[in-house]
Amino acid sequence: MGNIVAIVGRPNVGKSTFFNRLIQRREAIVDSVSGVTRDRHYGKTDWNGHRFSLIDTGGYVKGSDDVFEAEIDRQVELAIDEADAIIFMVDVESGVTPMDEDVAKLLRKVEKPVLLAVNKVDNNKRLENAVEFYSLGLGEYFPIASTNGSGTGDLLDAVVEALPEVEDEEENELPRFAVVGRPNAGKSSFINALIGEERYIVTDIAGTTRDSMDTRYNRFGFEFNLVDTAGIRRKSKVKENLEFYSVMRSVRAIENCDVCLLVLDATRGFDGQVQNIFWLAHRNHKGIVILVNKWDLVDKETNTLKEYEAMIRREIEPFTDVPIVFISVLTKQRVFKAIETAVKVFESRSKKIKTRQLNDIMLPIIEKNPPPAYKGKYVKIKFCTQLPTPHPQFAFFCNLPQYIRDPYKRFIENKLRQEFDFQGVPITIYFRKK
Ligand code: GDP
Ligand code: GDP
Repeated sequence: MGNIVAIVGRPNVGKSTFFNRLIQRREAIVDSVSGVTRDRHYGKTDWNGHRFSLIDTGGYVKGSDDVFEAEIDRQVELAIDEADAIIFMVDVESGVTPMDEDVAKLLRKVEKPVLLAVNKVDNNKRLENAVEFYSLGLGEYFPIASTNGSGTGDLLDAVVEALPEVEDEEENELPRFAVVGRPNAGKSSFINALIGEERYIVTDIAGTTRDSMDTRYNRFGFEFNLVDTAGIRRKSKVKENLEFYSVMRSVRAIENCDVCLLVLDATRGFDGQVQNIFWLAHRNHKGIVILVNKWDLVDKETNTLKEYEAMIRREIEPFTDVPIVFISVLTKQRVFKAIETAVKVFESRSKKIKTRQLNDIMLPIIEKNPPPAYKGKYVKIKFCTQLPTPHPQFAFFCNLPQYIRDPYKRFIENKLRQEFDFQGVPITIYFRKK
């Protein structure tokens, strides 16, 4: 968890082919920079039990050499800032190109691990040809073929080997909050308002990776850690990178937290980028509190708040059981309430319901509303239990788990939410054979 590996290299060397081999499509996030025909991909992968995130720094804009040069700067800058290790991919078919040399020059100065992957090594002839890449001055290289996967195992072994150790998520019992959202939503202002001055900082716990930082606070009678707060990194030279940086920063902060405080600008609404962050938190089973900031800027009539809230709930269907707090950092409205709510979500996320109590409540509900018969077969649920995981997961044991359909699963989830209060907490339900 938490480690990021970036792939850099000029267009057409096979970066996306490699990325796609490693990442399951549904796990990837695509960040399309508006107005530019270029996507950046982010996804998680697993190699021998080591999970890490992979960024494919992206395609390119067709154009002159100037454009390519700017592009290389952009990729390398992103990789240097955000990654724990860098895979530099080159193509044996075309041999060493001037652009490869430019990238190598930049990478030779980088202190992070750089792994040189010579791609498209599909046969022995090409294996021989690959030696010319020694001239890049990056040492050993890994001959690979992304299309069939040959050599990629050795490369990934080396990647995993090079990655720094990451702290275990469960070590610290204090709530870990991440303040996330789009640029300008008011995250830094929120954090400043929340913490006031330095004196509320209890201690700094340096993260294992350079920029992931937990800072411990004691405020409003609550003790908590803020994870990877905004603004610690240097400003990007390249404008377009800003939005993507903020996405990457959110990704990292989300992975390392218990509860996400998703800040949005009330005057801008719940747009696509906010949606991305929301679902990312959900997929990672993190608690979520939505903070609608800059509420002072909104003209209010009788139902404005209700309507705004309803609009957000429509956007987050079907996971609508999420607290929404309307705040104004400027006027210090409900900043305390925001933290109080986050603490409550943290507690709900960590709570363990006793098996006895769970069965006493859920079995009668199930008896009254049994799963509908499927292909003439009756499903009988006999017993349920909460699994001993850091976020709520429940197993329901029955004779024919394969016949439980999604609507029934949702019904059970809603009942669990009604009975036990899991507001803001994603829950997972399994039906298992007994
Ligand atoms: P990107 O621009 O760096 O992301 O490159 P792509 O992944 O789009 O690949 C560019 C081209 O190289 C595509 O036509 C791929 O099919 C091809 N390619 C990628 N990997 C290999 C490989 O291992 N062997 C061969 N022969 N072709 C490859
Ligand atoms: P960040 O990029 O998410 O960290 O956003 P900032 O905290 O830098 O805030 C962006 C801008 O919004 C700044 O000019 C803030 O002064 C302004 N801002 C933040 N919160 C509020 C608020 O509650 N009301 C108003 N009117 N402006 C705010």
